Amino acid sequence: MAKRIMVVKKDKCNPEGCGGYLCMRVSPSNRAGKEAIVKDTDGKVKVNENVITDADRIAANKCPFGALQMINLPEELDEDPIHRYPPNGFSLYRLPIPLFGKVVGIIGKNGIGKSTTLNIIAGLLKPNLGIKDKEADFKELIDKFKGTEAQGFLEKLRDGDIKVSFKPQQVDMIPKKYKGTVKDLLDKANETGLLETVAEKLDITKILERNLESISGGELQRVAIAAASLKDANLYLFDEPTSYLDVKQRVKVSKYIKSLSEEKGVVVIEHDLIILDYMTDLIHVMYGEEGAYGVCSLPRTTKKGINTYLDGYLKEENTRFRNESIIFDKVRSEKQGIKEELTSWKDYEYKVGNFNLKIKEGSINKGEIIGVLGENGIGKTSFAKLLSGEIKSEGFSDSELKISYKPQYLEKNDELVSFYLRNAMKYESTLLNPLNIKSLFTKSLNQLSGGELQRVAIAKCLSEEADLYLLDEPSAYLDVEQRLKLTKVMKDFMYERGKSAIIIEHDLLFLDYLSHKLLVFDGEPSVNGTTQGPLEMAEGMNKFLKKLDITFRRDEENNRPRVNNPGSQKDREQRLKESYYY
Ligand code: ADP
Ligand code: ADP
Ligand code: MG
Repeated sequence: MAKRIMVVKKDKCNPEGCGGYLCMRVSPSNRAGKEAIVKDTDGKVKVNENVITDADRIAANKCPFGALQMINLPEELDEDPIHRYPPNGFSLYRLPIPLFGKVVGIIGKNGIGKSTTLNIIAGLLKPNLGIKDKEADFKELIDKFKGTEAQGFLEKLRDGDIKVSFKPQQVDMIPKKYKGTVKDLLDKANETGLLETVAEKLDITKILERNLESISGGELQRVAIAAASLKDANLYLFDEPTSYLDVKQRVKVSKYIKSLSEEKGVVVIEHDLIILDYMTDLIHVMYGEEGAYGVCSLPRTTKKGINTYLDGYLKEENTRFRNESIIFDKVRSEKQGIKEELTSWKDYEYKVGNFNLKIKEGSINKGEIIGVLGENGIGKTSFAKLLSGEIKSEGFSDSELKISYKPQYLEKNDELVSFYLRNAMKYESTLLNPLNIKSLFTKSLNQLSGGELQRVAIAKCLSEEADLYLLDEPSAYLDVEQRLKLTKVMKDFMYERGKSAIIIEHDLLFLDYLSHKLLVFDGEPSVNGTTQGPLEMAEGMNKFLKKLDITFRRDEENNRPRVNNPGSQKDREQRLKESYYY
């Protein structure tokens, strides 16, 4: 069995850039006259894995573009993959198992095969069992899983007893593929005839007549979820169902997805840990090396699965997949900004169209990160624009701050990343390295995945000279580890340069970890909004959770926040004490 694989990242392989097939020239096996690394038909390189030896690692190390990677697979992975993208591509080991009556979650970093597993379960990708040019038949697959729970599922899939419906990750693509109104799209999906009920549950009744091109990201996400769930299926797959949703909608969508599982099977990929915890019954942790291989671990109960993931150690499999455990601080003890004021404002009222924003007085200090919480359409962006002077409104704030802004929706074009980030070169150690961006330099913005584009946009925003950095939903499409890394990058960056940031964010765990204070928006979306704060964390979070009508406790193992079951003893006690979280 192959304990070692050599992966070729075709998008990075650039035989002209390295002076002509450098890897082939330095590979000891090639030099000994063997065909270990050869030219593929597309002009890039291909590896014959039964020919290469450990010594050929030098060929991978010498590649200036990181296109070749020699990977030692973990000891216990003594088996063939379920699927390998040919040739020399990513390998997937093992599969998640959908269960009827349960919501099964998948957690893991980006590029580790989560979407690939869903594509296989959905029957959209025929696995090849690691053998080139081959589609495994069901018999082989079922044999491979004999005696496991997956066997039963695969047999059902073979017999046509599984009908799958799938919500893809990037909802931004929908208006490009389908033209027409929300209702047109949902009518086509409406096999169950439940359109009206579902629209009501997902809060999209009011936008049914709107054109798909003119609705917001959060609305599009809920339309996509509605469309997937209107199909007459018995297995529903959701790839990141909460991007662009505000916290209230995340809770609503979670309840909806849970309710689907009453009679059907549901599998979700989700990076918002509080929501993943709330929504699922079981979890598969996925681990491996991004772009090279991924392993889907055994299912665990949700609480155990998330804790295992944070811990970085799979006890039953005896596998450590991260060197350090992730533990959250119960008490915040951190370097905070100097208590020097950056800007302040007085009570103020601002009207735009039919929307009325009431701003209560507040101030921001230098070095401070202000988290912003509030529903979509409640005035968060309008407030930021007032503060920056982008919207001029008499008598609001006398200071004119220079603001650098990362919008929620990111534009793509064919500009090269290295050119787009040309002002960021001086932040190599503080931005580019920790956000792992340099490997993207030779790509154009068009070629980036959602998470890659997000990291590039964040680096761009932070590398501009400004007094105040405003980032709108920086967590979208980032995995858990990237989110946590980003908190460290942002905190160090603001502290060391004495700058301030306002972060609009709906992943509560991430926001809680990142912010020094909270600005809370209240009101009725599209009608009116009121700001409160910036408030101290405890006060802000308690206010916000009280409005949402949920209480949080901390996990005893790693202090991560978890939603209390409504009506549970903890929930009732905390409500009595008005202590919704802290
Ligand atoms: P995740 O959903 O965990 O981010 P994916 O399943 O989308 O990961 O991808 C896992 C790896 O497989 C990626 O590194 C990607 O390079 C590779 N990959 C995905 N789709 C294809 C494909 N169609 N052809 C070749 N490689 C692919
Ligand atoms: P958020 O950032 O909280 O999602 P926004 O500040 O973008 O909210 O918008 C708040 C409300 O104000 C929305 O209902 C939006 O439609 C409305 N609005 C914002 N800008 C304008 C404008 N230029 N003209 C009319 N209405 C606007
Ligand atoms: Mg994916």
